[in-house]
Amino acid sequence: MSSKESRFRLLKHEGVKGTFIICPGLCKGCGLCLERCPHDVIDWSEELGIYGTPRAAPARMDDCIACGICQLVCPDSAILIQKKQKKKA
Ligand code: SF4
Ligand code: SF4
Repeated sequence: MSSKESRFRLLKHEGVKGTFIICPGLCKGCGLCLERCPHDVIDWSEELGIYGTPRAAPARMDDCIACGICQLVCPDSAILIQKKQKKKA
């Protein structure tokens, strides 16, 4: 894998309410998403980010409500939340 591919790879984590997508190559480990998640879903990955800092990872996707707060607060646009559509009756 080239360093460019590695920098922009996306990791997808499926949850009940939505999908949490993170680009590890953009995470600088500021911790804002961990602080602001209302359900304590996000934790530090065992894998370091590209800056040699800890990087965020969703550790408890069963608790994720796909509110999108983590996406909004991330200063580096490292997170994308795709909320699942409710099925029409
Ligand atoms: S979408 Fe909401 S609940 Fe899910 S990880 Fe982000 S801040 Fe937490
Ligand atoms: S807010 Fe963004 S840059 Fe900061 S730890 Fe979370 S994903 Fe990484």
